[in-house]
Amino acid sequence: MLRNDQIDKWDRDHFLHPSTHLAQHARGESPNRIVRTASGVFIEDRDGNRLLDAFAGLYCVNIGYGRQEVAEAIAEQARELAYYHAYAGHGTEASVTLAQMVLERAPKGMSKVYFGLGGSDANETNIKLVWYYNNILGRPEKKKIISRWRGYHGSGLVTGSLTGLELFHKKFDLPLDGILHTTSPYFYRRADPSQDEAAFVAQCVADLEELIDREGADTIAAFIGEPLMGTGGIVPPPKGYWPAIQAVLDRHDILLIADEVVTGFGRLGTMFGSDHYGIRPDIITIAKGLTSAYAPLSGSIVGEKVWKGLEKGTDENGVLGHGWTYSAHPIGAAAGVANLQLLDKLNLVENAGTVGAYLNQSMREALGDHPNVGEIRGDGMLCAVELVADSDTRRFFDASDKIGIQVSAAMLADHKVIARAMPQGDIIGFAPPFCLTRAEADSVVAATAAAVRKVLG
Ligand code: PLP
Repeated sequence: MLRNDQIDKWDRDHFLHPSTHLAQHARGESPNRIVRTASGVFIEDRDGNRLLDAFAGLYCVNIGYGRQEVAEAIAEQARELAYYHAYAGHGTEASVTLAQMVLERAPKGMSKVYFGLGGSDANETNIKLVWYYNNILGRPEKKKIISRWRGYHGSGLVTGSLTGLELFHKKFDLPLDGILHTTSPYFYRRADPSQDEAAFVAQCVADLEELIDREGADTIAAFIGEPLMGTGGIVPPPKGYWPAIQAVLDRHDILLIADEVVTGFGRLGTMFGSDHYGIRPDIITIAKGLTSAYAPLSGSIVGEKVWKGLEKGTDENGVLGHGWTYSAHPIGAAAGVANLQLLDKLNLVENAGTVGAYLNQSMREALGDHPNVGEIRGDGMLCAVELVADSDTRRFFDASDKIGIQVSAAMLADHKVIARAMPQGDIIGFAPPFCLTRAEADSVVAATAAAVRKVLG
């Protein structure tokens, strides 16, 4: 076995990490962690630390770590048939079964599922399908896509453009032309603090209408949004937001893509966020919870309307010129089948709802009165604590103080609890595995309260 110092050197010398301060990492100025194993809600590293992972990796290990049923399904699939492609009508029992299981669970009106590898490539697929659809309908000008500031949809060329966070644009020449951003449904950070929720929703609608008028509805193909904004700060939609937005889109014949990479398969205590908030999407993006990240797999669930366009398109033009070598990879599909079976068998979606509500409530009780806590928000097994310099005025801390990072670092060092300092703002995010117990939720809350008090008094 390699020694820790050897691994550390190889890591610093050779591994270009995603979403990392590359220079500091290479120079050894920032910590690294080599994760060795995991079980339930705990991960263990090579230095012997056992950490409670209150972010389920990157909100993806929904069933919890170390599930032997899924490991066995993957091993069995690898022994039987590690790979075959899905082009030209090929499939495996696992991929066909998973398509069936996804559609059984999907909101009404969905027709087919295309399988990719991760959330970013699924959203790239979605945008291509939307463009294809409008070409088939004979409206080649209708191509622009609207997303929201602070939305997260991946970090590819188009998907990084859709993402409405500065970090993902800066120095990458993004966003690309044809990608537009509208107001973030972030009630706490509304520009006019005198607005109540209803007035703020009316503002979001008016801003969207104005953007559509300015650009011309006949140039806009689709609107993409997460039912609950995740990486932008774990922000549930204000009451009535989705039906109001949907009405605008319907009126202008603009498709709605619900990006359910985080919310799909139970994180809100319901199978899909679209059902949870009354959204009627044309396309749904799925990834993380599809396999609980036991193997890479994503999907684009296509609704009846778009499917009709694809059907017509291939009748007129022949084979759909879109696909990846690893589309519907059998190992990912086998993991997906076993994962969804386990989700049902252990009632994990229900647990995400009940223990998630307990986590949110306990967090409010522990920290709701703290002068530097601006807002505690969440839904299902998602929770966020937004820290501010002054809770009366919602004043931000100086970004250079890195308060969010300090708090999450204190949680880790003192309490061995992993929470995520969200990328924009001083927001501590929680998205634990669905199997979290109430006692484990208590540990997460106690660690957060102690760390906030240590850093901020
Ligand atoms: N969409 C949403 C809502 C996400 O949260 C993410 C990742 O966190 C993505 C898309 C991109 O997924 P991936 O990182 O698998 O490409």
